Amino acid sequence: MRHSFACFTLALTLCGVGARGQSKPGPPAPLTVIRAGTLIDGVSETPKRNQLIFVRGEHIEKVAEASAAIPSGTKVIDLSSATVLPGLIDSHTHIFLWGEDPAKGGYDANILKAGIALRAARATYAVRRALEQGFTAIRDVETEGAGYGDIEIKQAIEEGTIPGPRIFGATRAISTTGGYNLEGYAPELEMPKGVQIVDGPVEARKAARQQLEHGADWLKVYMTHRSWVDKQGNLVSQPTLTVEELKAIVDEAHGWQKKVACHAYNGIGLQRALDGGCDSIEHGLEITDAQIAQMQRQGTWYCPTISAYYGYWEPENTPAGKRDRARAAVHEISFKKALQAHLKIVYGTDMGGIPWTEPMAQEFQQMVKLGMTPMDAIQSATSRAAEMLDMKGEIGVLAPGAYAEVIAVSGDPLRDVGELEHVRFVMHNGAVFENDLAK
Ligand SMILES: [Zn+2]
Repeated sequence: MRHSFACFTLALTLCGVGARGQSKPGPPAPLTVIRAGTLIDGVSETPKRNQLIFVRGEHIEKVAEASAAIPSGTKVIDLSSATVLPGLIDSHTHIFLWGEDPAKGGYDANILKAGIALRAARATYAVRRALEQGFTAIRDVETEGAGYGDIEIKQAIEEGTIPGPRIFGATRAISTTGGYNLEGYAPELEMPKGVQIVDGPVEARKAARQQLEHGADWLKVYMTHRSWVDKQGNLVSQPTLTVEELKAIVDEAHGWQKKVACHAYNGIGLQRALDGGCDSIEHGLEITDAQIAQMQRQGTWYCPTISAYYGYWEPENTPAGKRDRARAAVHEISFKKALQAHLKIVYGTDMGGIPWTEPMAQEFQQMVKLGMTPMDAIQSATSRAAEMLDMKGEIGVLAPGAYAEVIAVSGDPLRDVGELEHVRFVMHNGAVFENDLAK
């Protein structure tokens, strides 16, 4: 009802403009001022005390000292006893994935037991969960068999139908024959796959074009698939696309000024991901020193998603149990090496693989436990992620000209990064979505 009235009003306005033959700028959007006790702006290394954030419409107009004049009649949101930060960015989610718990049918149940309406309802829940936890932007790296659903959920958010964060969607993702679920069924059966399967550079380029045509903001490629521990105790991952296939995808994406995220655990597949020109390495469980150096040279982003490898381990003395333990063990080493080498690390959870009911901020604790400073971890989920998403200065920062994506917690996340699991104020695009701090 509200929308149809707005359309009617808009039509009248357009009529008026037409009749007068010129457009008149409307009145400026009302001003809101947020009083921040402590402000972490997403870029600076140290927080500031007692700041005012002036928000007009969807944007931050200015950030000033508490003594700055506030025009009379301005709405003031008092967060003077809280820590205020930019909206968080999760660079690795799956809004269409509803857990992979073996007791609930594992990954396959997502595709075999849930129809598209149920999956859309779950994705609607997921995006709301993200926003209410202070994640005002997500890079959603494939829909797991739900086609272009991420772009449609994004549309529903943008048109105001449902609440949710800004979405950078990768749509269907790409792998090769033998390179993705569903698998393990009778060979006579033509099973649906969680990704678009390609073989050869021509098919790879065509899939990239199809996904870009249908609105993909990023492309997601699987460069490794199965993994196991070999007789020498090493983690081995089956490679999927060849360098030639990947190069066709990267070339196509870059031509559209889009980027390519590569799921790559280790070994041959990770090497091909780097040689093929991937923009971000997802997971990167085991990265050699030479590969770290190559990532430095090429400016490759690293999205480690540590938490996802601690959620569930198969029993200890089974092949899968050994694999699960080996993954976590090498991952810790790689993360520490990446920190030392100052690789460009971005915050990612793999939510969806992790149930959406769990806290999205749990990855902060993992990163800090492995040696990252809380401020660095916060920047990995704010300004650094924004840069990867080509949104530098627009999101992930509290500064003039940025979108007003503002969150707050009551404690000090630099002392206890776990505070970020209790976000109590969320402003998205200048509108307050949640406020438990200043009623
Ligand atoms: Zn993932």
